[in-house]
Amino acid sequence: MNAQVMHSRTAPATTTRPAFGTVMASTMAVASFRDGKWSTHELRKYGPIEISPAAHALHYGSTLFEGFKAYRWADGSINIFRMDRHIARMRQSAQGLVMPEPDVALVAAMVTAVVDRVRNEVPEAPGALYLRPMLFGLGASIGGASAPPAEAMLIVLASPVWDYFASGPKALRIYVEEKATRCASHLGMIKTGGNYAAAMGPTMAARQKYQVDQVLFCPGGEVQETGAANFLLIKEGKILTRSLDTTFLHGVTRDSLLTIAPDLGFKVEERVFTVEEMLDWVKDGEAALSGTAAVLAGVGTLVRIGGSEIKVGSGEVGPHTRRLRNALLAMQQGEVPTPAGWTTRV
Ligand SMILES: *Cc1c(COP(=O)(O)O)cnc(C)c1O
Repeated sequence: MNAQVMHSRTAPATTTRPAFGTVMASTMAVASFRDGKWSTHELRKYGPIEISPAAHALHYGSTLFEGFKAYRWADGSINIFRMDRHIARMRQSAQGLVMPEPDVALVAAMVTAVVDRVRNEVPEAPGALYLRPMLFGLGASIGGASAPPAEAMLIVLASPVWDYFASGPKALRIYVEEKATRCASHLGMIKTGGNYAAAMGPTMAARQKYQVDQVLFCPGGEVQETGAANFLLIKEGKILTRSLDTTFLHGVTRDSLLTIAPDLGFKVEERVFTVEEMLDWVKDGEAALSGTAAVLAGVGTLVRIGGSEIKVGSGEVGPHTRRLRNALLAMQQGEVPTPAGWTTRV
């Protein structure tokens, strides 16, 4: 079957594309940790897995994941963006949750094997194949509340995704949460399920009350990040974002943007900053969310407790945000060279 036919099966030609993450690729890779060591991995057809209802992850939240993308370039090759950084972060997450750390080589082999097997299911750019390695604790004991899981499973899922901004980039409406934390302050840098569960209450409450898209967590008045994306302030020649600490996720998109920004004429400042400083910045500056899914999404409105609204710049996605986003997308899609080691060809 030629590639074109395969595409039409996974990428409907209609204008309504499936929502992000709702379509899975046909193959997944699975490896197990037992008796102190990792098995070799196997490729399986995507589908249900059977685990004990007493599994550690189901009771005590020993779960973590990664999220990154492989792009189809104009020459037909499939290229994974910054795989090494995502694997390193996955190992850091495992360490943080005291879970078995898979070797870099094992995860890389699983990811590349899945990408290779489902290469015909990778949509054309700006679509991509979203890669979702996940690690969770097993072992049939519900007595493990204060012990790490003895067994674990590592699965690499893949999901074809289409253009996030198919109907044009829309400026986001963000609630500024100045009290609640997104998660425990020592786990912000860990990509673990419990953090998203912890953020769900405040996020749903703000959505209902203020009709916002996301919540920007600023506990104690210090700006951190939203539920699943980092936060950047941008203006002519300048980017300001919070310096890395344990309270928030160290995004690879954030790192990529900060790395290419100087060449685009931006001076990068990484430090703690307050809500007051942010409100001052957005009088004539821009604000944006960074993450693998949307790359860089412009913020149009900030909403504060009680419902007062602050327009960010013009209220639309700003020109500097667009320029940064397009520059990174061009690298991800193989239109311009990246710094060394950023892409893995499959
Ligand atoms: C995944 C994630 C990000 C973005 O990380 P990227 O590596 O850029 O995709 C930011 N914040 C949170 C809470 C996340 O889960």
